[in-house]
Amino acid sequence: MISARSATKPLDDELARPPRDVGPAELQPIRLRELAERDPAAFRRLCARLSRWPIITAEDELALTEYIRSGPMSVIDPGQGVSGELLKEFQRRLGLRRSYGLTVNSATNGLHAAYRAVGVGPGVLVAAIGYTFHATVTPALDLGAHPILMDVDPVTGNLRYEEVLRTLDAHPDVQAIGLNHNWGVPCADIGRIAELARSRGIPLIEDCSHAHGASVDGIPVGGFGTVSVFSMQSKKLVPGGEGGLCFTDDAALHAAMLLVGHYGFERPGPPNDESLQQTGLGGLQNRIHPLAAVLALSQLRRLDRVLRNREENAARLREALRDVPYLSFPEPPAAHRTSYYAFRARFEPEGADGAALVDVVATLRRAGAPVGLDRGGPLSRKTIYRKQIDSPISRLDPARPLYTDRDLPNATEFCRRSIILPVFSRDPAVVGDAIDVIADLFHASRKALP
Ligand SMILES: *Cc1c(COP(=O)(O)O)cnc(C)c1O
Repeated sequence: MISARSATKPLDDELARPPRDVGPAELQPIRLRELAERDPAAFRRLCARLSRWPIITAEDELALTEYIRSGPMSVIDPGQGVSGELLKEFQRRLGLRRSYGLTVNSATNGLHAAYRAVGVGPGVLVAAIGYTFHATVTPALDLGAHPILMDVDPVTGNLRYEEVLRTLDAHPDVQAIGLNHNWGVPCADIGRIAELARSRGIPLIEDCSHAHGASVDGIPVGGFGTVSVFSMQSKKLVPGGEGGLCFTDDAALHAAMLLVGHYGFERPGPPNDESLQQTGLGGLQNRIHPLAAVLALSQLRRLDRVLRNREENAARLREALRDVPYLSFPEPPAAHRTSYYAFRARFEPEGADGAALVDVVATLRRAGAPVGLDRGGPLSRKTIYRKQIDSPISRLDPARPLYTDRDLPNATEFCRRSIILPVFSRDPAVVGDAIDVIADLFHASRKALP
């Protein structure tokens, strides 16, 4: 058990100090400016250390060590032990009121179980957001479904209600919807999309992997889907190394997801005969590793502070960049909270005196600013959606049209106009001066723009 002391008071307040490979003196404003001037690449590397994620603390180490000594090293019933504790604590911390929760070993497998539970199988049409990390959609593809990829809003990168409505009207036989809250900015239309899905009797699979703690009008992300799925992979905001969580209010869907990948324990209610206990229905094994659950539980205790820090640090940089004429910051409504899984600005060509974004970013990087381009694009650019693959595991329906470069133009525009800015999880008192220097580099390099 974690001692009372360590649960309430940080052992060594990691977020309140620089990472171990950064000396406090290095963060003095004068030293930061001097470094950026003398060796811009070294300044960028320093920023990378300051923004590194995840941050593993002494509390995490203690929690893991104590668990290793006491076990058990496999939790068969996901409602029990550290798995059950994680589910309860996750819902409590996020204010997520869902009737049923399930731990899994990855969000990908959680999404697979969710699609499977709502009946996605061979030949089924799934209307899915076409700009996201691929795993929002590929589990449905693996089940034999054909994804209809939907374009996003070119400014927010998120799905719009109108696009979902248009897709459902054009394809009345769609049997599931897949959505993601891109980069932690909650999908502003999620309430209306969920309502539309409900009114048509189509299950909504809400991928929340970027958006732990984000909310829309006070409702937490994860509260909208017929099934809502979070990742706890190490880059995510509640990192367990690997892991995932599924939530639903539907007892039958919860039972079905258990049958896909959680065999070996007695379930309340049907179906629960002995041979189903031994095999499940899916025959898969989706259990979370208890150490991943322990790490995620320990990280969860700092989530509020991490979100506050990310928000405050991003606000500081945004404020300092407010008058850079080639940048804009599309802001969600005040009643929406973003998790800052990533932080992006939008490039406004009219403010760049004819310079292209690639050149602007190259100039900024030469000056030491830790910024980047989005080299991704819509899922429709990925090989699996563009051609039939000669492989025994290929699943794309050969009778359906393949996607091309011309599809999902808004998602392409969103990526081509994104400038990726750093996200800092440590306290503003630690990273604030570095953020100010980054902003200065933007202002100083305006003269150097091509
Ligand atoms: C990370 C991620 C996933 C997959 O999560 P895993 O836990 O690594 O399987 C799915 N969807 C989105 C949007 C993600 O970012």
